[in-house]
Amino acid sequence: MIKTILAAVDEKMPQKEIIEQAGQILKQGGLVAFPTETVYGLGANGLDAAACKKIYQAKGRPSDNPLILHIAKKQSLYDIVKEVSPNAEKLMEAFWPGPLTMVFQKKDCVPYEITGGLETVAVRFPSHAVACGVIEAAGVPIAAPSANVSGKPSPTRASHVIFDLNGKVDMILDGGSAEVGLESTIIDVSQSIPVLLRPGAVTKEMIEQVVGNIDVDPAIFSKPDETIAPKAPGMKYTHYAPKAEVILVQGEDLSAVQMKIKELVKEDLRLGKEVGILATDQTKNAYGEGIVLSLGSRENPLQIGANLFKHLRKFDFLGIEVVYAETVPETGEGMAIMNRLKKAAGYKIIEIVS
Ligand code: AMP
Ligand code: MG
Repeated sequence: MIKTILAAVDEKMPQKEIIEQAGQILKQGGLVAFPTETVYGLGANGLDAAACKKIYQAKGRPSDNPLILHIAKKQSLYDIVKEVSPNAEKLMEAFWPGPLTMVFQKKDCVPYEITGGLETVAVRFPSHAVACGVIEAAGVPIAAPSANVSGKPSPTRASHVIFDLNGKVDMILDGGSAEVGLESTIIDVSQSIPVLLRPGAVTKEMIEQVVGNIDVDPAIFSKPDETIAPKAPGMKYTHYAPKAEVILVQGEDLSAVQMKIKELVKEDLRLGKEVGILATDQTKNAYGEGIVLSLGSRENPLQIGANLFKHLRKFDFLGIEVVYAETVPETGEGMAIMNRLKKAAGYKIIEIVS
């Protein structure tokens, strides 16, 4: 156990002394968790392999799962990557700072320890004032995966980070709840046609408006084929999973989905299980039994994305053993929501054909 410094920080105008202290810790090779607009990140000096090793230890993260380097100005990109394609330039212009990560050929200064042994490196310029302040104060690119124990739902508020990492990191900055609530979109721009590797708040549709048609890694939609080597090492790991078993119930007819969920809940309750339902504002009142949490309005996918991990963690807190979750259409932000939901469910999906 180490003594973790907890500090509340203003999310819009972070206090200088606190940011400086976080910067010092990072410069000395320590770990600092901080808010970003996507989820909370666990930061270390991204060019210092020994410092980054501590990230893997604190999270229990497999060493071949690569980290994203975070920068606080566009010019810093050219210090760490070999080539920036015209498509990458356009995407930077359109979406940085913000929730978009791009994968480039790495320069030698980027250690293999953080890229999972790959020749490429993932880079993001976040828009959150606290994240940018901390990166600037450290004066180096900051490697920062989500600040949770590996495999659990990503943290969207400081309390989640404290629960997972108190005593394992040097400092945790509390800057309120993360606005987006889902990890960044990842796109590989190291090849001539960009490839979407992870969906997020910057949607496929938004990216295609800027660079035309892109490819999408099939692992985004379905369970990666274990026999094919994954493009990015991180893609082979199950993620975002609460302790409860999560089962998705999917179908075009929402009332048929509700009926099925009610039936499943009834049976599980009969067996004495603690049951949760991940519903939406439009459906939440239809379930008479089980613990119902609403992700928000079906008309507001941003709200659903922002609440997803928080609710998965809440079910754990409540001791729920089985969660039945409704699904959303896989377009726009829905692609990211469904990607996380399917992973949380370990791809267990009940299809209702009507
Ligand atoms: P996170 O744990 O949210 O920080 O996400 C890190 C993820 O970024 C990894 O699990 C990979 O899927 C992806 N990633 C990082 N570096 C690379 C890379 N060089 N090439 C492809 N994907 C990467
Ligand atoms: Mg993560």
